[in-house]
Amino acid sequence: MHYDYLIVGAGLFGAVFCERASAAGKRVLVLEKRNHIGGNTYTKEIEGIQVHQYGAHIFHTNDPAVWSYINRFGEFNRYTNSPVANYHGELYSLPFNMYTFNRMWGVTTPQEAEEEIRRQREKAGISQPRNLEEQAISLVGQDIYEKLIKGYTEKQWGRSCTELPAFIIRRLPVRFTFDNNYFNARFQGIPMEGYTALAEKLFSGAEIRLNTDYLDNKPYWDSLADTVIYTGAIDRYFGYPLGPLQYRSVRFETEVLDLPNYQGNAVINYTDRETPYTRIIEHKHFVFGTQPKTVISREYSAEWQPGEEPYYPVNDDANNALYEQYRALAEEEKNVFFCGRLGEYRYYDMDVVIARALSLAESLLQGKRSNP
Ligand code: FAD
Ligand code: UDP
Repeated sequence: MHYDYLIVGAGLFGAVFCERASAAGKRVLVLEKRNHIGGNTYTKEIEGIQVHQYGAHIFHTNDPAVWSYINRFGEFNRYTNSPVANYHGELYSLPFNMYTFNRMWGVTTPQEAEEEIRRQREKAGISQPRNLEEQAISLVGQDIYEKLIKGYTEKQWGRSCTELPAFIIRRLPVRFTFDNNYFNARFQGIPMEGYTALAEKLFSGAEIRLNTDYLDNKPYWDSLADTVIYTGAIDRYFGYPLGPLQYRSVRFETEVLDLPNYQGNAVINYTDRETPYTRIIEHKHFVFGTQPKTVISREYSAEWQPGEEPYYPVNDDANNALYEQYRALAEEEKNVFFCGRLGEYRYYDMDVVIARALSLAESLLQGKRSNP
């Protein structure tokens, strides 16, 4: 059997590309080294609850085309993410909004909150933020930085906030309203049957081999298809000739508890430095579950070591420069496209991954040979 496309990796990028190619009548073979499809979005049912096995995944997008596309494969609920921060037992509303400012400083109006932040920024003497610490202080002031950002970020990234790029913190909204929606997105929700059910539909037109690492027998797999869509790590593809790119990894400790409601919210961030985990997810709250038991996951962040699952690319200057060198090598590869979070070494959310997969599929299915 010869295939039009060999998709390496059964994550979201692979799933969307697969659906488009299959719908266009193409023959598709998918290889996945893990024992399941869905990549990091994979959900598994435990005690009747869809458990996000690789960390909480909340779908959000501003792109109506992406939203209407993904809704064809499963129904989404109205879940709106509004995590709570726990700093040594003090609870704060996230993202940074009027509830947070009121709890932190007792201010009750946007003017008072803005004035307090301006005062703290001036005291710190920051005009052009050069790193995450300076960016955070200039956005929300010293107090919020110390209690809600510094400890969490240093646990999550294993690096000092002065060594991290400013863009990481600019992902979070800062609002002078009583709106604690974590995302600035027109559309948001959780697939009611779980992400794995979505992936099953997207992959339904293809042949899938699980527990199969493409790189164990690359020449053989290459010989089976015209074009390879590679969504694994770009540095691993080449065997690390320039050294490994850095990633952050996450370890999850998942527990079933014999009570209906453990923490009253899907996501609670532990923002102090002393608590060893970054957050606790209580999965049933993503879908307003009413089961008698509950499932929670504590997330521990760690530096990635070869052989482990890479999660977050570390997009600092040194790693971005190394990635550019790998990208130059990738451009020499014939008929291989490097895609997704790992193939492009980018901190992409799911909606961006979907948009990019739709766009590459459209371009290739029209006979173009370049990545748009
Ligand atoms: P992946 O899901 O990583 O899929 C790549 C697949 O390729 C993997 O299954 C891997 O096993 C497989 N693979 C790799 N190498 C090989 C090989 N050699 N042979 C065979 N298979 C291989 N996004 C949001 O929009 N909202 C969120 O709330 C959110 N939360 C997140 C929380 C965490 C902890 C993480 C890590 C990410 C989160 N994301 C979130 C981002 C989201 O997970 C990604 O955008 C999306 O999963 C990327 O899909 P992908 O297909 O590029 O990569
Ligand atoms: N962040 C923080 N405190 C929090 C939540 C987030 O300081 O309580 C910072 C942290 O640096 C994190 C960044 O904001 O890396 C982006 O947060 P987001 O929730 O988008 O991270 P994700 O885990 O979704 O990638």
